[in-house]
Amino acid sequence: MKSNSQFYPFTLPKLSFGYADLEPVIDKETTELHYSKHHQTYVDKLNAAIEKFPDLKSLSLAQLISDPSSLPDEARDAIINHGGGHANHSLFWEILRAPKTNNEPTSDLLNAINLTFGSFPDFKTKFSDLATMQFGSGWAWLCVNDSGQLSACKLPNQNSPLAEGLTPILCLDVWEHAYYLKYQNRRADYIKAWWDIVNWDRITELYLETKKAPVVI
Ligand code: MN
Repeated sequence: MKSNSQFYPFTLPKLSFGYADLEPVIDKETTELHYSKHHQTYVDKLNAAIEKFPDLKSLSLAQLISDPSSLPDEARDAIINHGGGHANHSLFWEILRAPKTNNEPTSDLLNAINLTFGSFPDFKTKFSDLATMQFGSGWAWLCVNDSGQLSACKLPNQNSPLAEGLTPILCLDVWEHAYYLKYQNRRADYIKAWWDIVNWDRITELYLETKKAPVVI
């Protein structure tokens, strides 16, 4: 993830697609608001938090959010929430693309998914269940550990797997702002449709990069 090696002042990543390109899975208005308002606000509030602490300006985004206990008390919550928000959304945009049928992982990543979860359909079920079960706002994650092993989990709010020592390669935003305009309370329908816009080519690249250099700090 390129955004993880960013330093203050942080900026929005460039999207590889237009706001309308994720339709019909995610409507244009949701993508535009999500990127230009929600994600921008995380970036702005992260910059505002770092501005008051010059020592933190020499730390990358990954360094800032990987070890919250090392942060000044007055900055910790803002960096967990807004630094996490910036990193999480940056990965989310990076692993999406226009809808595609027969959308599946390949090569080494498919082998690792089969080894860890039994099969690709079993992985999708497990990940979808985590995303559905996350109570309130949060994310579902597919991560790689220091040994190159995969795991899936859910975390509340904007908490980052980097703070758990895990490098995320796939994430699903289940905050209501990610789906409410089109799906209202039907989070499970959003999750089911979302698989069609997952960019498995990019996730496979992230998996291979992460296995070579486990923690991107
Ligand atoms: Mn979001």
